[in-house]
Amino acid sequence: MEMVERDIAGRGVRDARVLAAMRDLPREAFVPASRRDQAYDDRPLPIGARQTISQPYIVALMCEALQLTGDERVLEIGTGSGYAAAVLSRLAAQVDTVERIPELAERAARQLAEFKLNNVRVHSGDGTLGWSDAAPYDAIVVTAAGPDVPQALLAQLAPGGRLVMPVGASRGSQHLVRVTREGQDDYRSESLCEVAFVPLMGEQGWPEP
Ligand code: SAM
Repeated sequence: MEMVERDIAGRGVRDARVLAAMRDLPREAFVPASRRDQAYDDRPLPIGARQTISQPYIVALMCEALQLTGDERVLEIGTGSGYAAAVLSRLAAQVDTVERIPELAERAARQLAEFKLNNVRVHSGDGTLGWSDAAPYDAIVVTAAGPDVPQALLAQLAPGGRLVMPVGASRGSQHLVRVTREGQDDYRSESLCEVAFVPLMGEQGWPEP
């Protein structure tokens, strides 16, 4: 409750549904046991496999930027701990989330099942190619930073849909952009703020090490 008031509502997030979802879902359940005492700090935390659970304020900002009303089909790229997928599950009708590291995907799927969030499907694979089985999506969120917005994701966005993703350097700081598909071949892009994310690695992202 304090985290939401201080770091999320207190920093300008206004979407009441986002605030309610984040009040309701305990972030501590999505961080390693050794980090539980830091679960309500407004910062990213390590989750193993050299990856992180994102800063809560940034999770809220990205969810708000998707402009969800509850009926949408959402695709998340970068499941990580499953925390953002859990928040999205409260904001949309269906969530498909893709993670490239199988052990993270498995752990997140177990955690989401424990909370009985039955409208989330966790997939293991290269999310730079999207998840074509359930496309098109009303909203797509990418929680790792790529050099550009992958063409596959633009193609899987429904007309009228919104895509939110960090774009820029593989390390350090990137721009959080929102792309709105305004027509079949008409995409409008806005830069929302500066962020720092781990790299999006894959066929339409940064090359695998
Ligand atoms: N949304 C996550 C959460 O709530 O914990 C945070 C995700 S973390 C900042 C970024 C994640 O993107 C990592 O788990 C990383 O393995 C994943 N990732 C990087 N490249 C990917 C790709 N091509 N496809 C799917 N996941 C990818």
